[in-house]
Amino acid sequence: MTSNIPQLVTDLRATFDSRITRPLEWRRTQLNALKTMLLEQDADFVGALHTDLGKPAEEARGTELMFIVNEIDHTLEHLDAWLAPESAPLPERLLPGTAQVIREPLGVALVVGPWNYPLHLALAPLVGILAAGNVAVIKPSELSPTVSATIARHLPAYLDASAVAVVQGGIPETTELLEQRFDHIFYTGNGQVGRIVMTAAAKHLTPVALELGGKSPVIVDPDVNPVHVAERLVRAKFLNAGQTCVAPDYILAIGDPAPLEAALTAEVRRKFGDDPSTSDEYGRIVNERHFDRLSALLASGRVVTGGETDKATKYIAPTVLTDVAPDSPVMGEEIFGPILPILTVKSLDEALAFIRNRDKPLALYAFTESDEVKHRILTETSSGAVGFGHPVVHLTATDLPFGGVGESGMGRYHGKYSIDTFSHLKAVLDRPLT
Ligand code: NAD
Repeated sequence: MTSNIPQLVTDLRATFDSRITRPLEWRRTQLNALKTMLLEQDADFVGALHTDLGKPAEEARGTELMFIVNEIDHTLEHLDAWLAPESAPLPERLLPGTAQVIREPLGVALVVGPWNYPLHLALAPLVGILAAGNVAVIKPSELSPTVSATIARHLPAYLDASAVAVVQGGIPETTELLEQRFDHIFYTGNGQVGRIVMTAAAKHLTPVALELGGKSPVIVDPDVNPVHVAERLVRAKFLNAGQTCVAPDYILAIGDPAPLEAALTAEVRRKFGDDPSTSDEYGRIVNERHFDRLSALLASGRVVTGGETDKATKYIAPTVLTDVAPDSPVMGEEIFGPILPILTVKSLDEALAFIRNRDKPLALYAFTESDEVKHRILTETSSGAVGFGHPVVHLTATDLPFGGVGESGMGRYHGKYSIDTFSHLKAVLDRPLT
């Protein structure tokens, strides 16, 4: 596999140079084929997601397969408009003449994906890559090997195999891929590898999008109904057993956290039952390394609910911790698991300062009814996205950009933003000679 990588990239470049990806009809055909693959091979993908991550079938469909299908449908619906040349006004001194912006495909793209939504995060970027007229190498995560193998088996059978290739493997394969010249590298994962990707890209001046993670805070105002807050928080936090890049990482409760603690306990029981290990709506931790890392974090506070673990099945119960100190281990890194610490702050000022003193998060959430509080959050903090009243779902809003800022990443995608990420916006000026 490894020795073929330079040839693979050369072959893909030849496909791109042959211009077959230019007509919109080719792009539509590929997007429709991708959709057909997801629908026809649903059982294989759902089974693979269960094997690698214990994902419940409905969750797998909702957050992975159907997410990509929706992205394809939305893109197909707007493709003509998004790719139409945009005319631009000219200043008086350049008249007579016309100006326009045209979107030109970049060429060969590389997608390096993570394990937590291994199908979604490998193929959602591909929607934009194909729609913009590029060719691609997809490198799914080796930590979700069954999904990776399933993608490798089906993708070339449905799509134009001369334009889309899948490379399976881990660090050696990714390292060799990164030595090649690409026209765009789209990486999702952690910041440490993000730096490796960006360093490799710099050698060829290749543009990158880095979709990274971080600790996404949740501010909870004392005047909101804790039952409503708990309902949405429990869903968002414990989805995929907390292994979601935009999962609420920790709560900053303004004032007394007791009502919220009680509501979260009740909601966990309502959603997952008395023993969440028997719930078919609850997933497992990806591997032993992450299981051990997360288990050690459970000692960072007083357990309000949860705390149980089972190494044999990589089960960690949906857990809420309180009395958590800002310098405790659970606050030292992105949790990326089913542990939700509550920190108490006295005021909004204290909450905002707490957030500003840390890395810019991928998402910032708040439960508040106050427009003034919302305005202050929006203007006094920086984050990839802000979600008021409903964590995580902003990433399913098809016309919103998705991406981070600072330590949570750079670049954005989804819908029209994917087209712009995977295109060059070429400026064209045309003036008559006489
Ligand atoms: P991972 O370990 O699966 O790594 C991601 C990719 O990087 C894999 O394809 C892997 O092969 C490659 N890789 C790993 N080490 C490498 C190296 N030394 N050199 C070259 N390539 C290497 O995934 P992960 O990093 O554990 O994913 C979790 C992180 O991803 C979390 O921080 C999470 O928040 C973030 N994340 C972000 C998003 C987003 O959309 N912003 C989505 C999901 C996950």
